[in-house]
Amino acid sequence: MDLAFTPEEQAFREEVRSWVHTHLPPDIAHKVHNALELTREDHQRWAKILGAKGWLGFGWPKEFGGPGWTAIQKHLFEEECALACAPRVIPFGPVMVAPVIMAFGTPEQQQRFLPGIASGEVWWSQGYSEPGSGSDLASVKTRAELVTSGQGDKYIVNGQKTWTTMGQYGEWIFCLVRTSNEGKPQTGISFLLIDMKSPGVTVRPIIMLDGGHEVNEVFFDNVEVPAENLIGEENKGWTYAKHLLSHERTNIADVNRSKRELERLKQIAKREGVWEDNRFRDEIAKLEVDVVALEMMVLRVLSAEKSGKNSLDIAGLLKIRGSEIQQRYSELMMLAAGPFALPLIREAMEAGWQGDAAAGALGGFPGGEVGNAPLASQYFNLRKTTIYGGSNEVQRNIVSQVVLG
Ligand SMILES: Cc1cc2nc3c(=O)[nH]c(=O)nc-3n(C[C@H](O)[C@H](O)[C@H](O)COP(=O)(O)OP(=O)(O)OC[C@H]3O[C@@H](n4cnc5c(N)ncnc54)[C@H](O)[C@@H]3O)c2cc1C
Repeated sequence: MDLAFTPEEQAFREEVRSWVHTHLPPDIAHKVHNALELTREDHQRWAKILGAKGWLGFGWPKEFGGPGWTAIQKHLFEEECALACAPRVIPFGPVMVAPVIMAFGTPEQQQRFLPGIASGEVWWSQGYSEPGSGSDLASVKTRAELVTSGQGDKYIVNGQKTWTTMGQYGEWIFCLVRTSNEGKPQTGISFLLIDMKSPGVTVRPIIMLDGGHEVNEVFFDNVEVPAENLIGEENKGWTYAKHLLSHERTNIADVNRSKRELERLKQIAKREGVWEDNRFRDEIAKLEVDVVALEMMVLRVLSAEKSGKNSLDIAGLLKIRGSEIQQRYSELMMLAAGPFALPLIREAMEAGWQGDAAAGALGGFPGGEVGNAPLASQYFNLRKTTIYGGSNEVQRNIVSQVVLG
């Protein structure tokens, strides 16, 4: 196993670094650096800049308009973007549904949907989970019935999805729908692409612990979907869904963001004086060991791919360790800032917020660093990481099945 980068890979890293530094808007980098809230416009501005360069679909092969990078090049690209404080690419389009369309879609579907994803023009959402169907995803009940009419075949969709991340911005949603109740639950699921502007689609917000509007419920009431929006074969959607989930879980590990946030944690600890406390530094050191171990695990997977060996099937393991690390650095940031991290002030998530009298009355920031203000929001927000993309308990079950049989 060779974990060192070649001179060509180092040169590639330099090229990406210099391009990102030139093209990443400073106001967006400032928000990411300080864990401030990004708007839809922020996300899409960066997505379109990447799209114009041909890098939004950074994992795509050349035949579909991607850069055709190796696994190592993709890793270096993501690392450089994270270190420069670029926003994460919103994965639903380029990282999740696009590989499914490439692998299982028709040439017409590929021509119709991939360009809008690659350019960052079209915002996609993920419609998998339903009330009562999260870990037990195969039990989805949203029903799609095929009807034949003079204007062509179409599905009539009825049901509800939930926890739909950024569904308030979604223009299209890829959904798991039930097309049959015969046999095992997995065999009656289909994969359908639905235009969220269709009559009968309603999006309602779910407000999270941090007060933010990040997730939604999506209702389908007799929504008409042209039959040509079905991916692959009817009742084979479970196969396509699993293909997509392995991409999601590797993506959630996000070791590059953890490396950046580890450095931010050290800055906060120094600023707040707890860096002098040996016990606190021990905690940071333990976290650093975990981050390095996760990075080694990612590099081992990449090295195995590069040498053509079977890569370890450890997407679930990466997800478990990555999400736990994200929660741990947010806990240590809270501890470092002490009482100044406690108030949860939504306005503090906006760039330029300098604290105000009302915050003082709430026990807020007089005497505290304004930079501490978003810490509570971030802490609450990251509780989600051990749940979404398949909860860590369920991931442990999957990993133990793979390892122990
Ligand atoms: C912030 C956030 C964003 C999300 N975004 C999306 C999205 O965009 N699109 C989408 O489709 N979904 C999304 N999800 C949904 C997510 O995938 C589910 O929440 C997740 O799969 C867990 O399902 P559940 O919430 O129904 O919990 P449940 O399945 O009801 O689980 C409840 C608890 O029981 C445990 N549990 C369940 N089964 C087992 C088992 N067999 N063994 C051991 N423990 C078990 C779980 O670990 C969990 O602790 C999001 C979730 C969150 C929190």
